[in-house]
Amino acid sequence: MPTRRRRYRDLAELDAHLIDCRACPRLVAWREQVAREKRRAFADEEYWGRPVPGIGPSDAKLLIVGLAPAAHGGNRTGRMFTGDQSGDFLFAAMYSVGLVNQPHSVSRDDGLELFDTRITAPVHCAPPQNKPTVEERDRCARWLHAELGLLAPTVRAVLTLGQFGWQSTLRTFAELGWTVPRPAPRFGHGVSTTLVRDTTTLEVFGCYHVSQHNTYTGRLTVEMLVDVLRSAARSAGIDVEGE
Ligand code: SF4
Repeated sequence: MPTRRRRYRDLAELDAHLIDCRACPRLVAWREQVAREKRRAFADEEYWGRPVPGIGPSDAKLLIVGLAPAAHGGNRTGRMFTGDQSGDFLFAAMYSVGLVNQPHSVSRDDGLELFDTRITAPVHCAPPQNKPTVEERDRCARWLHAELGLLAPTVRAVLTLGQFGWQSTLRTFAELGWTVPRPAPRFGHGVSTTLVRDTTTLEVFGCYHVSQHNTYTGRLTVEMLVDVLRSAARSAGIDVEGE
């Protein structure tokens, strides 16, 4: 586990440091190789090729935690879930619940606005095959730790996309002094668990990841995602559309 737990004034300061991180040699090499070689469809674009920070307001009530940026999505555009089909799926669902101002997310300057919601990931650099190692996950944990610490005063619900996000979220909140039920609750689609710190509670929801593997096979449908999103938003105290 990383030992350095630097404190940041706010999310802007955290993000400014994050985008310069080069702590994982394998991921730095991969994100930069992808950015140099590019995919043919994006040959004219300049890839971001750096750590991808979270998006959304600093006083978010709902947090969505994924896995890591996609090589030709977030690693290209510089914004989480932006410019790929996983993002299309996620933002269309968020739009139908009223958590964003538009159903698509194509570039950093496309006008997307998130309402009361922030999106982040336990690993901020695109990994080969979307699979970070345990060491890379642990090295990147300091960023999630700092981000959740800054968001803790307002966040009241977390939607985790996949088991990786679920486990990282529970581990990080436990480090921040929240009581996580024992034995640790197991990930599943639609499951939820309550964390407690002093007199404050926080609900963590599980949802299958919006990966193409899950959405193409029908393991995760738009309706399933909307259902969990709506539950999480309601739990966070957000007025939800479409009820
Ligand atoms: Fe830094 Fe995280 Fe990227 Fe590793 S994965 S280089 S710790 S930002």
